[in-house]
Amino acid sequence: MAVSDSNGMKDIVALCKRRGIIYPSSEIYGGFANTWDYGPYGVLLKNNVKAAWWETMVKHRSDIVGLDSAILMNPKVWEASGHVTAFTDPMVDCKQCKRRFKADDIVDDPSTSRTSGTGRRCPECKGELTDAQQFNLMFQTNVGPVASENVTYLRPETAQGIFVNFKNVLDSTRVKLPFGIAQIGKAFRNEITPGNFTFRTLEFEQCELEYFVEPEKAEESFKYWVKEREKWYHTFGINSAKLRIKAHDKSDLAHYALSVSDVEYEFPFGWSELEGIANRGDYDLTQHAKFSGQTIDYTDDEGKKLVPYVIEPSGGIDRATLAFLVDAYVKEQVSRSAGQQVSEGNEERILLRLHPKLAPIKAAILPLVKKEPVVEIAKKLYEELRKEFFVEYDESGTVGKRYRRQDEIGTPYCFTIDFESVDDEAVTVRDRDSMEQERIPISSVADFLRKKLQ
Ligand code: ATP
Repeated sequence: MAVSDSNGMKDIVALCKRRGIIYPSSEIYGGFANTWDYGPYGVLLKNNVKAAWWETMVKHRSDIVGLDSAILMNPKVWEASGHVTAFTDPMVDCKQCKRRFKADDIVDDPSTSRTSGTGRRCPECKGELTDAQQFNLMFQTNVGPVASENVTYLRPETAQGIFVNFKNVLDSTRVKLPFGIAQIGKAFRNEITPGNFTFRTLEFEQCELEYFVEPEKAEESFKYWVKEREKWYHTFGINSAKLRIKAHDKSDLAHYALSVSDVEYEFPFGWSELEGIANRGDYDLTQHAKFSGQTIDYTDDEGKKLVPYVIEPSGGIDRATLAFLVDAYVKEQVSRSAGQQVSEGNEERILLRLHPKLAPIKAAILPLVKKEPVVEIAKKLYEELRKEFFVEYDESGTVGKRYRRQDEIGTPYCFTIDFESVDDEAVTVRDRDSMEQERIPISSVADFLRKKLQ
């Protein structure tokens, strides 16, 4: 990442607010802890991240189908999955400053253990901590008017909606092993220590695939998906030096997981998980069969019945979006180039080098003068392009300022129209990253964009 400030995330958070990408939620009321709203450009960016995932995982594959299951589910689902009893974090409070922490995040401090007899002190004020209490991360709610009745939960992951629909998908489509069911949707976790901008929030979107395979092929499939998922982040622009795979030690795995690896990204606050890939064996289908009393299995072509194993790549759309933003952020000095028909000046610029497919706005149409027939040509081009692409028209201020604005929201191409366009029926296209400018016929602009967005 090319962030030049020492605070890491500060510049990105400021850019996101300034340019309508991400705002603090409920800001006029002082905000609401670790919830964020995606602004006009942020929603386009996030939708593009979802579309990129969906295209790769569903549209371009004949072995994966999609699903959109409900957020509220029968509470038995969460008993079967183990979330009611085991989806907990140990929590500690500081008796002095009253801050709350995940007990796992507290490291022993040898300087305090010598004086107080315990090495576990508040990381903020070194105060004494309470004993750890288990805290369930699920948001509980009630269906119907009586507060104590009909308890259920906001789903903490989308995966269970897939498992409980395994039989439905099998019975209503022509899927055959190996096959996957993919889903993007909201999930909710009452995180004790949310933070790092949109990295850890209470409400977030997940993108999950449950890929069902014959048990003996599970490890091979697991390895395949680890590579595929790392490749996806790289394909959509993330610098491969900032990506790594971290395999979990077998001794650290949950009892049902046979193998787990995370795709990690080097954020300014350190290497952190973008996505986890797990070989979950037949745990989930077996649990739901047990709790529902239904038979959940698969019959192969020879009539043999089996419970498939499942490989689960489980990612977060908000985390992926944040990684794409952080990785695309560049602050650089603009140097005057002889090749520029329109001078860019000699100043600092901030840009988001987003992959064109992820960029919220694909092109800006900028008339160089506010005079006819230049404006008319520019508006005609804009009207034509916006039938197919998210584009912007901007005629106010100097062209240099207009370029800077587009750079900051990651618009890959700007088309300028001038008096020459009247005679040569051409426009100048300016590339966001290289700032190189090229003259192309107006009639080829839509095709130019189509090719770049392939
Ligand atoms: P972490 O260790 O960071 O809490 P996790 O291992 O609990 O993550 P999973 O349960 O595997 O996460 O969830 C799959 C993915 O969902 C994560 O890799 C992440 O991208 C996303 N995710 C999970 N919790 C959050 C959260 N609170 N905010 C944003 N994204 C999240």
